[in-house]
Amino acid sequence: MICAHWSQALDRLAARHLKRELRLVERHGSVIVRDGRTLVNLASNDYLGLASDQRLIAAASAALERYGVGAGASRLLAGNFSIHEELEAALAEFKRAEAALVFSSGYATNVGILMALATPRDHLYLDELVHASIHDGARLSGARVERFRHADANDLERRLRENASRGARIVVTDGVFSMDGDLAPLPDLIAVCERHDALLVVDDAHGTGVVGPAGRGTAAHFGVENRVPVQMGTLSKALGGQGGFVAGSRQLIQFLIQRARSFIYSTGIAPVLAAAALEALRIAEGEEWRRETIKRQRERLASALAAKGYEVRGELEAPMLLVMMGEAEAALELARALETAGAYAPAIRPPTVPHGTSRIRLAPIATHTAEQIEAVIAAFPEKTR
Ligand code: PMP
Repeated sequence: MICAHWSQALDRLAARHLKRELRLVERHGSVIVRDGRTLVNLASNDYLGLASDQRLIAAASAALERYGVGAGASRLLAGNFSIHEELEAALAEFKRAEAALVFSSGYATNVGILMALATPRDHLYLDELVHASIHDGARLSGARVERFRHADANDLERRLRENASRGARIVVTDGVFSMDGDLAPLPDLIAVCERHDALLVVDDAHGTGVVGPAGRGTAAHFGVENRVPVQMGTLSKALGGQGGFVAGSRQLIQFLIQRARSFIYSTGIAPVLAAAALEALRIAEGEEWRRETIKRQRERLASALAAKGYEVRGELEAPMLLVMMGEAEAALELARALETAGAYAPAIRPPTVPHGTSRIRLAPIATHTAEQIEAVIAAFPEKTR
């Protein structure tokens, strides 16, 4: 019975061009090899090009020798090593916070934070475009959940004003919205939260390492680091490894250690990954040329594709840009044409984005050459409207 349901669901997805497929790739820095062909890689979140950096590999290898492969236990039992605490101290300093806590993924971080901070008595306000892991954490918390209009501080304020409940109010937004390429209006959201005594949580998975001075993130870009009480980020994107973290007050971190179930009941992040992240943080802070290169490549792609007739979305500060295609089939067709011409940028379709807004996401990497970017532009056919 249930198996029949699975096959019907799969058939339905395929008929609507929405079935997801795993694609086998080999990565070599800014290119990937797929089916024996080398393609310029625009599909990763390794924005700074650090995932394959020799210095990260060396740091990880040394940690592998010293600590072994896995942490072996929860951080609260026998899995808390000096490398974890060194990384947390470095992340706290990077985010200008008192303390930080590392989780085994960004997903686990969001789920852990929201389950710990919100209870069924409380009220969560989520930007309507926040990441799936925030929705999942919100659901698991049991709190009442309301969505406010994307990046709209006025809509948030209206909702906060109308809610007379006595529970805590927690507002959650991404710092950079990776499927739209825009930044949350943090100064406006902060002002609203401060007026209504709401706690602000910012998921800066895509801003960390890329946005703001020295890549310190979206809050740093707006100069409001000390007014974002809960700053979340990942080690898995610009920092080139894997893992997630939250930075904030010492009290917040102590509270999360007691209550964040995905921290307590899960093996500590592998020491190898902690060592790689520590090295990545040092490089990300110091090598400004990586951020400058991404910005330049992003600008070149945006203007050249607009000139070819495409609707391009995304702010200059964000590391990615989106080419809006409408129906899933149109986005898939373009992705196939790009691949044939040597560029790898899969279509982003529902449910990741709303129906009728399928798109191609382009994320230039700091180590792409100008020639590679020109090749990507050339791979886009002229758009006839
Ligand atoms: N938050 C956002 C905004 C993300 O885009 C992602 C990853 N797609 C995550 C959290 C989860 O991070 P991780 O991949 O480290 O689990």
